[in-house]
Amino acid sequence: MRKDLGIYIHIPFCLSKCGYCDFNSYEGMEGVIDEYVNAVKREISLISLQPLGKLRAGSSAFSFQPYEVISIFFGGGTPTVLESWQLIEILESCKGLFNLKADVEITIEANPETLTIDKLRELRKGGFNRISIGVQSFNDRLLKRLGRIHDSKKAYQNILSARNAGFENISIDLMFGIPDEALSDWESDIKTAIELKPEHISTYNLTIEKGTLFEKLYSGVKASYYLPDEDKQLEMYEKGIGLLIKSGFEHYEISNFAKSSRKCVHNQIYWRNEEYLGIGAGAYSYMNGERRWSVKSPVEYIKRIEIASPSARNDIPSAFSYQTLVAGSERLEGKGVIGETIMMGLRMLEGINLQNFKKRFGVELKSIFSDTISQLLKNNLIVFDDGNLKLTHKGLLFYNDVSAEFLS
Ligand code: SF4
Repeated sequence: MRKDLGIYIHIPFCLSKCGYCDFNSYEGMEGVIDEYVNAVKREISLISLQPLGKLRAGSSAFSFQPYEVISIFFGGGTPTVLESWQLIEILESCKGLFNLKADVEITIEANPETLTIDKLRELRKGGFNRISIGVQSFNDRLLKRLGRIHDSKKAYQNILSARNAGFENISIDLMFGIPDEALSDWESDIKTAIELKPEHISTYNLTIEKGTLFEKLYSGVKASYYLPDEDKQLEMYEKGIGLLIKSGFEHYEISNFAKSSRKCVHNQIYWRNEEYLGIGAGAYSYMNGERRWSVKSPVEYIKRIEIASPSARNDIPSAFSYQTLVAGSERLEGKGVIGETIMMGLRMLEGINLQNFKKRFGVELKSIFSDTISQLLKNNLIVFDDGNLKLTHKGLLFYNDVSAEFLS
């Protein structure tokens, strides 16, 4: 039986590190990009050495049976820091190895500062059929606050250029809760995004992460001085939902809105806690009940690929070669994986289908976490509706509290 699989490819380079960002991304590493691209292509070839890989019957070609790839996602960092031909070469390596579904979604994340009309045309021609543009705001004052390197004009222009280049599936990332942001600023950002007619809009609340520059600038007393308070942020969130729904977007996940049939295939894999394969420095995979992650540092990653690579070692390839990249792993089982699946599944507004849940885990959802579920039902945070367990509107606003209940 065929199983769906998502592939994530991590490109950990950015032109400049944003003050709020705690992703595995680095500025000033342009000097290693060529080696990194080669390392990623080598990692893809090493995947065939994993126990999951099999030779195609009657041929010497490798096949990642029984998987069918429904999505390939280039994320970062800023993938578009690479030249388009480098990105296309990596994509081609994937195409050569995996069974791709005919309508596979192939997404590239992009920063407006790194795009030109020629690059967009090359990427579209090279096989990318979805682009996710990190706009964050159309307000130059707020972009400066965030430490973004692009301005609103560039973001606006690049969205139009992506359409001209042939992208029929465009996503825009917006952020709210930015220092000094007013409700009217947020309203204006949402309206500008709608005016550009993208197929998909993500709206993220700025969070102050540990170890970032923003932690130094905006934690403690300074947070209350500069950041919109919790009530204001909830007001912004609800304002965004209202405007987007009114313009024909479906609110299908806490932070995500799509025009019909344009829900992000790749992220739905994560929200359903289904299988994905991560490639590149610090990338996570989840397959056969095991979560595994690679070494985080791009330089260390390149070094380990050198060690692991059969051609470099002039040796017989073995499954062991691939293990050199693995920085850690954990087996997800029992109540832990069930709690995680509920937590992720509740992010989607359709919720968790009770029949599918029973088929997957062999138990009724209602029979486990029964105390937690009764408490959340009593507090009007979740609801059973049409064979699904889902968040109420109130639950949507307090998702972090709800999800913590299933993980505790
Ligand atoms: S562009 Fe994105 S990945 Fe890069 S530093 Fe800024 S937020 Fe982080």
